[in-house]
Amino acid sequence: MERVWIHIRGIVQGVGFRPFIHKLVKRGDLRGWIKNTSSGVELELEGERAALERFVRELPEKAPKLALIESMEAAYSKQLRGYRDFQILSSKTEARRNTLISPDIGICDDCLRELKDPADRRYRYPFINCTNCGPRFTIIRDVPYDRAKTSMAAFPMCPDCAREYHDIENRRYHAQPDCCPDCGPTVFYLDGAGNEVPGDAIALAREAVKAGKIIAVKGLGGIHLACRCDDPAIAWELRRRKHRDEKPFAVMCRDVSCARQLCEVSAVEERVLTGFQKPIVLLKKKAPGLEHISENGYVGVMLPYTPLHILLFDEDIDCLIMTSANRSDTPMLIDNGEALRELSGIADGFLLHDRDIQTRCDDSLCWVVGDGEYFARRSRGYVPFPIRLERALPPILACGAEQKASFCLSRDKYAFPSQHIGDLKNLETLENYTGQIAHFERLFDVRPQVLACDLHPDYLSTDYAVSRAEREGLRLVRVQHHHAHMASCMADNGVDAPVIGLVWDGTGYGTDGTTWGAECLIGDFTGFERFGSIRPIPLIGGDRAAEETDRVAFALLREAGLEPSEIENAALYEGMLSAKLNCPLSSGMGRLFDGVAALLGIKTRCSYEGQGAVLLEAAAGEDAGRYTVSLSGAPLRFDWRDMIREIVCDRSRGVEPSAVAARFMNTLIDMAVAQCVAAREYSGLDTVALSGGSFQNQYIMARLPAQLEAAGFRVLRHRRVSPNDEGLSLGQLLIAAAQLQK
Ligand code: ZN
Ligand code: ZN
Ligand code: FE
Repeated sequence: MERVWIHIRGIVQGVGFRPFIHKLVKRGDLRGWIKNTSSGVELELEGERAALERFVRELPEKAPKLALIESMEAAYSKQLRGYRDFQILSSKTEARRNTLISPDIGICDDCLRELKDPADRRYRYPFINCTNCGPRFTIIRDVPYDRAKTSMAAFPMCPDCAREYHDIENRRYHAQPDCCPDCGPTVFYLDGAGNEVPGDAIALAREAVKAGKIIAVKGLGGIHLACRCDDPAIAWELRRRKHRDEKPFAVMCRDVSCARQLCEVSAVEERVLTGFQKPIVLLKKKAPGLEHISENGYVGVMLPYTPLHILLFDEDIDCLIMTSANRSDTPMLIDNGEALRELSGIADGFLLHDRDIQTRCDDSLCWVVGDGEYFARRSRGYVPFPIRLERALPPILACGAEQKASFCLSRDKYAFPSQHIGDLKNLETLENYTGQIAHFERLFDVRPQVLACDLHPDYLSTDYAVSRAEREGLRLVRVQHHHAHMASCMADNGVDAPVIGLVWDGTGYGTDGTTWGAECLIGDFTGFERFGSIRPIPLIGGDRAAEETDRVAFALLREAGLEPSEIENAALYEGMLSAKLNCPLSSGMGRLFDGVAALLGIKTRCSYEGQGAVLLEAAAGEDAGRYTVSLSGAPLRFDWRDMIREIVCDRSRGVEPSAVAARFMNTLIDMAVAQCVAAREYSGLDTVALSGGSFQNQYIMARLPAQLEAAGFRVLRHRRVSPNDEGLSLGQLLIAAAQLQK
């Protein structure tokens, strides 16, 4: 017999860690105690040496999936204390500071088995859950996390559920949302007029969907609109009702084999699809088509993640369109009454339930790049799980940008990025944003001492930060947009040494007051130098050029000394351009994509940000051709005029737009490598961080990193937060922290 003392640092509270330890202890016939500490847990055990060693070996291997073990110390001793049983010692003092709020977790295999077992008391019960799965973040009102502080407070446990809850041997031990048909929430179905229809609510909803109806479905973090996806007429009708003419819809497939009928699914994609986070994964279409779902080369696919969603499917339904229910550009609906009001005339029926959604959380959205997720949106299933930092930071709130708004809060060695907030352009979204900030500060017990925000004077997030800093007497750090992107990619990869930052996006406010967006920076968290960029593009009519992208095509042609004869309104644009009337300059990569997409006739009017780039990528075929890369000046600018002349020449020779699109992107890749080589010569640095929304382009992501590596660079790309503006609050946080140290 021996004794072992173990100290585990990390986030191990509120993640089902103690029942897990209890099970391991019992199996090894060990005795002793466990208690929470300020940095993790501490335990002491006695038993056979071999059993103790096995315990120490298996603990990190088999730990609950949400536990974050940073380090584990174990010290053996031959002096026994003679423990007779295993005890969980309570220590409330430090628990709060170290508690992790779990994300919502997709239904586990054990619960799935019970859901389908006619003999189980939770057979077909849409709210079945356990210690390893179910709602968390979206139902929590306050900490410490227990049922009374969640939207399950309205449902007192029945004796059967309470027994499970208190039994450490039971897989529902301390599962706060534990419930059953006797004591838990209920689901109901209402017709389009809002009248409850008697009967089996889920069966009614399923039949409505099969009959071609569009129904609202209340899920975990919000309400969706659902309809069958095999009938284009229904999808177009949904677009008409939602005023969502072109943006792709996501679909929910019954299982992976149903997803395979629409899309290619690699082994890694299958792993991400079926993982407990259940994000929407952007999968390559098997064949062109499915235009009613998505106009580009991808379909966003997710699997059912709650029992309620699973029950919506049967043998006759493989796949449903699932799009968040909201009025244009406002946050996803979460409230029953609101849904009935706002969706009248849009939904033909409502599948709702009586458990409140406490916190809105949209579905996460990602590609699979390399061995895991590459986020377009990191939200449900991931949030509020923290990003571990290299060192502890003071409490800082970074306020993000405007499009794809987010914020990020630091506590010790962790950064807590917010869920998807949406474009901060209206009052409803602003209220969601400020409400979520207050909620995060309460949940994580953080009072920020410093605020960080974008340099842009007109962002609502800047407004928020400036006025709050003034009101509360807090220090404010304003961070250049592309610097924040670069820093975010560094933090994402745990790097703090200087790098070359290649940051390509649509738009960001530069230190010179002009619009930047295709930047090659050199720097670190403490500062940066603008080493390279692209020749600025005059945006005829300012913001209107982001939608009417033939204005950009016109400007590209004119600047290149060509005659833009085929473009509508040419005379008007010519007049504005020559008079320099409302033609602000932009070096945005997104604008260059828009302009070339318009030039190729792929898209001349864009209804959402990035549409030109997405469709250009989708249109590109395989072609190894490329255009001239002209670089000159300081900052070292890509002069795209040669490229534009060559594109026009290609088109007049009858080269297909698919080939020109590929050659255009090949040219950008060449340009990126050339800029980085020059930046390396200048600075001696050989690490390149890729960030910004343009690096959501999978054609470029499949090629640029490899080419940079072939040229001798180490390449950093995003892994845990998005390359688009949603991810940059993490960078703002690190830059603000560096400012404090100065
Ligand atoms: Zn479960
Ligand atoms: Zn019950
Ligand atoms: Fe950006």
